[in-house]
Amino acid sequence: MSVKVFINGKLLPKEQAVVNVYDHGLLYGDGVFEGIRVYSKNVFLLKEHVERLYESAKAIRLEIPMTPEAMTKAVQETVAANGIVDGYVRLVVTRGAGALGLDIRKTSDPQVIVIADTITLYPDELYEKGMAIITASTIRNHPGALSARIKSLNYLNNILAKIEGTDAGCAEALMLNHKGEVAECTGDNIFLVKNGVLKTPGPDAGILEGITRNAVMQLAREAGITVQECTLIRHDVYVADELFLTGTAAEVIPVVKIDGRVIGAGTPGPITQDLRQRFKKFARGEK
Ligand code: PMP
Repeated sequence: MSVKVFINGKLLPKEQAVVNVYDHGLLYGDGVFEGIRVYSKNVFLLKEHVERLYESAKAIRLEIPMTPEAMTKAVQETVAANGIVDGYVRLVVTRGAGALGLDIRKTSDPQVIVIADTITLYPDELYEKGMAIITASTIRNHPGALSARIKSLNYLNNILAKIEGTDAGCAEALMLNHKGEVAECTGDNIFLVKNGVLKTPGPDAGILEGITRNAVMQLAREAGITVQECTLIRHDVYVADELFLTGTAAEVIPVVKIDGRVIGAGTPGPITQDLRQRFKKFARGEK
């Protein structure tokens, strides 16, 4: 069965789901998006993702030409039409086609696209043994230039850092902010455990406020773990007892090495493993 893509109100075979080459989403990365998981036909935390999409759009003065309720319905219909049981949804809104210039007043028809497909996950081995990462030399976008809280179609900043990770043989790379503080990885948020306390940078560190991150903080609090959003520097990461990343695709993934420093015992720590199990249960509606 050919994949059906929702585009501007219609479900079309993917070959026919195309955008104009004058679309500013293509010409300038001008648009917003979301990545969402489907677990057992249930679109996970859809409300939170739709909310973040509309907030990203508002921040870049992009008016999405449909209501959040209609967007929610479009996602559910696209998932059902493609028979997705466990998979991934990519929600994209572009600025629309315009002139060969930056002026948004010359653009029209923002494109609303929903793709429901399978998902490529990190290999099981990385969850069992933990992953190694490096710190990229590319820093996160300066929040005064472009807020990292906007999930925009322009991911060059993260892509450049990801290339550094790939060159070093790592699946992820840590990005610092303009102050040299720990921000997040290229597509995942970062957490550490020190003396039983769970710590992660706050939104003011210049991060995307991950929906998985927020869910993991909530699950940790419910489990009686102290959670702190605070400034972290690389030294804090190097001397952490445990380290893990969170993201829609990654869920909760342990990190056991960074910049050649072994974290804790060099194996996934107990709090990381506990939170990973709690998150899996929550995602599957077993909480
Ligand atoms: N940071 C960045 C830069 C991201 O792109 C993502 C999403 N892939 C995350 C963090 C994790 O966010 P979420 O849990 O909402 O997927």
